[in-house]
Amino acid sequence: MFHFLLDVISNDDNYIAIICEIRAHYKAGITKNIQRLTKINSHMKNVILFMVFALSLNNLAAQPAGVTATSSIKIEMLFPEGKSKALILSFDDGTTADRRLVNLMNDYGLKGTFHLNSNKLDTKGYLTKGEVKSLFQGHEVSVHSANHPALTALSKIDIIYEVVEDRKELERLTGNLVRGMAYPFGNYNDLVVDAIKGTGIEYARTVKDTYNFMIPEDFLRWDPSIHQFGKAYFTPNDSLNDKKELATFFKLVDDFLKSNSLALFDVWGHSWENDGAGDRWTKMEDFFKMVSKRNDIHYTTQIDLVDYMNAFKNLKISVDKSIISNISSLDVYIKVENRSYKIQAGGQASIK
Ligand SMILES: [Zn+2]
Repeated sequence: MFHFLLDVISNDDNYIAIICEIRAHYKAGITKNIQRLTKINSHMKNVILFMVFALSLNNLAAQPAGVTATSSIKIEMLFPEGKSKALILSFDDGTTADRRLVNLMNDYGLKGTFHLNSNKLDTKGYLTKGEVKSLFQGHEVSVHSANHPALTALSKIDIIYEVVEDRKELERLTGNLVRGMAYPFGNYNDLVVDAIKGTGIEYARTVKDTYNFMIPEDFLRWDPSIHQFGKAYFTPNDSLNDKKELATFFKLVDDFLKSNSLALFDVWGHSWENDGAGDRWTKMEDFFKMVSKRNDIHYTTQIDLVDYMNAFKNLKISVDKSIISNISSLDVYIKVENRSYKIQAGGQASIK
């Protein structure tokens, strides 16, 4: 009997590498494995993926009745309320343009995460310390370091100082726990990540845009989906590039709205960027109009989503995957073999 196993082992825009393993089982019990690593162009990608899909269906169909391969049962996360889409909007620096941005977001019922430099507050062009608590009511206030240095240029103790000082002051100003962060200039390396562990920071956003809707695996290296308006306006007086980047941005928004699979859209930027030429406030409002007030989107701050994902990761699951217990204080929504389940906070569910 021959047993085919095709496994996608890497994937990028242009190429896909596939292991093709053909196992020939002989009566004597000898198993012969033939492995081949194949690099193919993107036109062949869909054909190969279809073959993988078809063969795996064939393998499933060939299983004897009554045998349940429980290890293949996938328990997938859904966002709160069983939604398949979530939106995070995060803005850095805490300049005075945040006032207009927060008001606009409030008009559209959108939630934001605002990364602030506490030592810049009360200086020219920045928010006052006194307004932080009321302005960001219903939003998240988060660390962006006390003074906005490039953390990669600092010693470990200075990195810790920048993070802890900012966190302490923002907690004093808001009266709330502050547990998230965005790297100033997006700069980080292994030393920076190592230094912030143990400072109470549970996620740290980079500026490395993924242009997709994947959920980050490492919360301390949290790559966002896209910068506001793509990279439009980065090069002064380049209207052709601006047009191209704006088209990329709004295409990604559209892709998110049309997506049928689990999708996290994480847009980051700065309120002060909207004050530049090119009617950017109107474009920001156009974006907010597109993504707001939709039943299929979970609107969240970044830390609330981290808490939710941690609750999902913390589900206790029986060996046969028929009992799932939720020991957290948040209701968790899951999908098992195309059925959705709600596991109440502190509760338990039977999966049939
Ligand atoms: Zn910044």
